[in-house]
Amino acid sequence: MTRVMPPRSRKVRVLATLGPASSTPEMIATLFERGADAFRINMSHGDQASKIPVIEAIRAMETEYRRPTTILADLQGPKLRVGKFADGRVILEPGQTFVLDRSPEPGDATRVELPHREIFAAIARDARLLLDDGKLVLRVTDHSDDRIETVVEVGGALSNSKGLNVPDVVLPMAALTEKDISDLAFAVEQGVDWIALSFVQRPEDLADARKLIQGKAALLAKIEKPSAVARLDEIVEQCDGVMVARGDLGVELPPQSVPPLQKRIVETARRLGRPVIVATQMLESMITAPTPTRAEVSDVATAVYDGADAIMLSAESAAGAWPAESVAMMDAIANAVERDPAHGDRVHFTVTTPDPTTADALAAAAKTIANTASASAIICFTLSGSTARRIARERPSVPILVLTPRAQTARRLGLLWGVHAVQTRDVASFEEMVAKAKRMALRHGLAKGGERVVVCAGVPFGVPGSTNVLHVTQIIGDELKNYSHEG
Ligand code: PGA
Ligand code: MN
Repeated sequence: MTRVMPPRSRKVRVLATLGPASSTPEMIATLFERGADAFRINMSHGDQASKIPVIEAIRAMETEYRRPTTILADLQGPKLRVGKFADGRVILEPGQTFVLDRSPEPGDATRVELPHREIFAAIARDARLLLDDGKLVLRVTDHSDDRIETVVEVGGALSNSKGLNVPDVVLPMAALTEKDISDLAFAVEQGVDWIALSFVQRPEDLADARKLIQGKAALLAKIEKPSAVARLDEIVEQCDGVMVARGDLGVELPPQSVPPLQKRIVETARRLGRPVIVATQMLESMITAPTPTRAEVSDVATAVYDGADAIMLSAESAAGAWPAESVAMMDAIANAVERDPAHGDRVHFTVTTPDPTTADALAAAAKTIANTASASAIICFTLSGSTARRIARERPSVPILVLTPRAQTARRLGLLWGVHAVQTRDVASFEEMVAKAKRMALRHGLAKGGERVVVCAGVPFGVPGSTNVLHVTQIIGDELKNYSHEG
């Protein structure tokens, strides 16, 4: 059975994390119907085998709805953790000393194992160690190859295997652990569309991942370390997309640093033409309640007004009591913002000057022509998706219908602002291109008889990176009659 669903009218994309609350084919389809455009599979939780039926369910749904669907596999990265305690848990008092060492002996209130050799070499006096999402703060007073002595600045309870953040030093750790390398190979083999790299510190981290991915998936950099913020432009240039990972970013830096950084990361990604996702705690209270706080609604709205490509749900959709309601709420907020007449102007507060290339010139012109000539849609033929990326970067007021013969391209584009990607046979001539553009715009409900569309393509057809044609055409009444269902 094929279910037909019209393209979403909203431009911003909704990325829903899947987990125990949302792993059945029924729930995945519900999330899709309520507004999820793309799905995140978090490799930090569960084993590889548990992801296989989830990926299969998404691909089966994709066939059923005939809509390319995006899967992002998020690698855990070098998430640091302390060892275990004899009693499972200790209380650290402010002012006391506390030691982290290399001994696997169960810890107590004076010491615990730190099973990450790299930290001992890189740590510096006065650096902070943040425990359990920053709830506890230790300050380094002395250190050697196998011992870090600290004084407790902010105390509290510390239990087994709690997370550790070290924001003050660049750690000589690769962004890919052994687990990540295995998970990456698994995800690529399963045919996911994007791989997200956690705790990126340097542009080289991305180069390492690229070597392993070998072009089989797009690469997303999660910005959650001060060291990544320090080299933001280089990192954004090295990847295909970025995530404002506000959870860990707000642990490594004071929470009040996050909003200005969110604006800066979104602005940088948009300027450099990379899709950007705003993530974490967007509708946090919906993990346990069917409605969000007004502050959360406002936070989601801000990301949409800033022109982010995608907004993400984490535990809300993965492990909460209201996964479908969380997706529906995000969809509703995004629709309300995009209906605001001021939305377009606010999105264009960020200026994205075209690069001096033919592709950028055409993308910028496509937007202008669509506005001036009141066209209904921009239709773009692409192999690699790069033309679609350039057009999405312009944030045009009309939908972008992307026609590509490659399923992989169509799926990867699912994180991009305003893009509706359709996999379809390639065209061989200019006439065929124009006819197909009109037919597909009609079929997907993006234009009606009498309306104009802007068509963007590369001639000769079938050669990537050759975008050089911009064509404006009007759909005349007769073409409605010829509207056929063949691809
Ligand atoms: P995580 O990343 O959910 O994998 O930690 C997102 C974040 O840190 O915000
Ligand atoms: Mn994180």
